[in-house]
Amino acid sequence: MEVQERLQDVVSRIHAAEKAAGRPKNAVSLVAVSKTFDADAIRPVIGAGQRVFGENRVQEAQGKWPQLKSETSDLTLHLIGPLQSNKAAEAVALFDVIETVDREKIARAIAAEMKAQGRKLRLYVQVNTGLEPQKAGIAPKETVAFVTLCRQELGMEIEGLMCIPPVDENPGPHFALLAKLAGQCQLDRLSMGMSGDFETAVQFGATSVRVGSAIFGAR
Ligand SMILES: *Cc1c(COP(=O)(O)O)cnc(C)c1O
Repeated sequence: MEVQERLQDVVSRIHAAEKAAGRPKNAVSLVAVSKTFDADAIRPVIGAGQRVFGENRVQEAQGKWPQLKSETSDLTLHLIGPLQSNKAAEAVALFDVIETVDREKIARAIAAEMKAQGRKLRLYVQVNTGLEPQKAGIAPKETVAFVTLCRQELGMEIEGLMCIPPVDENPGPHFALLAKLAGQCQLDRLSMGMSGDFETAVQFGATSVRVGSAIFGAR
């Protein structure tokens, strides 16, 4: 299958999952995760109409997206990997959405950079729903307080929550937990679901899914 066909297949599966869950068509947006793939591999996907992409490393994204953005004006780029404060300026300059706000230090750095650059990004708080020590994200029980801090002390508008469930577990309970925490924060946007579980995520209320290998192929 060509990359355009795989993209179309993923879009069809999202629509089928929306329907099965009794949700409106296009309730879920697709973030195509292009990490490890170069600009030449990404162009056919842009050519097929996809406009929203995700990358997990600032430096890697800097090597391809300034050019791709200059070729197509209406692209939206999401940072979906951990951010270090010393990369905050570059991340704020390049990305449109940061999905990995997960601690006070990085939240402060992003807030300061948005102000300095006069840019307003859309922001998600990443929650470590599985409390995995090696994984980024705020602990579930600290999520409400952290979102409140971002809003009240840093004046940030938070759009939603994001999670990456443990690879070896049934993702459903993690998606349900993220949805519950979002409700407690009065947030209605949920970034959850990847190639292996995006249909389940749609069932649990995802408003965006982040799909890489099912579109671009194995990494
Ligand atoms: C790589 C990645 C994805 C996409 O994973 P696939 O299994 O290739 O669909 C989604 N979210 C995050 C945070 C990632 O790093």
